Amino acid sequence: MKFYSLHKQSPVVNFKEATILGQAPDKGLYFPEFVPQLDKQWLHHIENHSNEDIAFRLMYPYVKEDIPEEKLFEIVTASVNFSLPLVRIHEDIFTLELFHGNTLAFKDTGARFMSRCLGYFVRNADKKVTVLVATSGDTGGAVADGFFDVEAVDVVILYPSGKVSSVQEQQLTTFGKNITAIEVNGSFDDCQQLVKQAFADEELKKRLFLTSANSINVARWLPQQFFYAFAWKQWNHKATPPVISVPSGNFGNICAGLLAMKSGIPFNHFIAACNANDVVPKYFQQQTYKAQAPVATLSNAMDVGDPSNFTRILELFKHDFNELKKSVTAYSISDEETKQSIEELFTKYRYTADPHGAVGYASLIRYLAKHPNEKGIFMETAHPVKFYDVVEPILGNRIKLPAAVQALMQKQKVSTKMNVCFDDLKSYLISKR
Ligand SMILES: *Cc1c(COP(=O)(O)O)cnc(C)c1O
Repeated sequence: MKFYSLHKQSPVVNFKEATILGQAPDKGLYFPEFVPQLDKQWLHHIENHSNEDIAFRLMYPYVKEDIPEEKLFEIVTASVNFSLPLVRIHEDIFTLELFHGNTLAFKDTGARFMSRCLGYFVRNADKKVTVLVATSGDTGGAVADGFFDVEAVDVVILYPSGKVSSVQEQQLTTFGKNITAIEVNGSFDDCQQLVKQAFADEELKKRLFLTSANSINVARWLPQQFFYAFAWKQWNHKATPPVISVPSGNFGNICAGLLAMKSGIPFNHFIAACNANDVVPKYFQQQTYKAQAPVATLSNAMDVGDPSNFTRILELFKHDFNELKKSVTAYSISDEETKQSIEELFTKYRYTADPHGAVGYASLIRYLAKHPNEKGIFMETAHPVKFYDVVEPILGNRIKLPAAVQALMQKQKVSTKMNVCFDDLKSYLISKR
């Protein structure tokens, strides 16, 4: 498979180069030259296959020239090494729990896949690799966990000070060894902007072997298709394919879902479930895309004002607005509705949701109210424990912290404070080398 840059100014590359570069030299996102088609018979009997086999099957067309089959199998096995159950909420509503991995959010799968690919690709490199990553909360922890103690790889995480939950912050700042955290006095978009600047900087490029681990990296984006195949595998109403509601921030996860649909998994429709950061819902109303300053909400991993992956969605639909509208609906859910949804899920169904999943649920309810004959799945993207600061006061009772999280909360936080200043970041990265 070849990947081209969406800005169309850089040469096409293979999976290995796309993974190492992260972003194309012309600053475009990489996109596959074609969408591989899954075999219809295979999809029809998908429940006969193990998660590892399904994951292998999905990734093989993208990586077959770059990773030997045995290695790929090892990588996908490590990426889906936890349960991803479809849980029934009621007759028409289900949730796919994506949070049973090490850092309790769906990003574990993509981060594990990417870290192992990168480790494999740079195994003989002469320069140490620096993975530079901006996080709104969950990416950093997943990437840190994926790369922890990987030889010849340093991870530098930028996160917005005071805008991540306490569990998230502990995950970012307590690994030590090859993982360092920079606490930026600004928003997630500021962090993302700093990272983009670093990749565009000629001097840094010469002195360091820099790469990204954000969801723009194809090695993080593509394996998120697994979730949608696993949802289909566990779906018992194959004659009525589900509507899928995806809590969305940078739009990587939903874009992977749409790619899975274009590859042949017969989903009825997708819902982009957003919080108050409503660039995409507004796009669907007005047909113009206008980046906004992000606003802070209860579902902080989705506080994104200029979602990077949205351009991939447009490409996937060949920039045909009407086609896109047939497959995707977008809603913006307020913090008030998010709280009500957390409460409703608990009092009506004894289900404890995190704020991101609650946005997914609220959006799905809104859609089903207009489409009463359909059934749906919302993606539960984080464990409620990760956001106990939000969830506990709403439910009025304590969420039991798993032992691993209790231990995490006792660890000493280590971070470097920094203003939104590219020169500071640059000197820091050079001095660390
Ligand atoms: C990252 C994240 C999201 C948003 O995912 P995108 O792929 O950026 O749209 C939603 N929920 C949680 C818990 C997350 O960590």
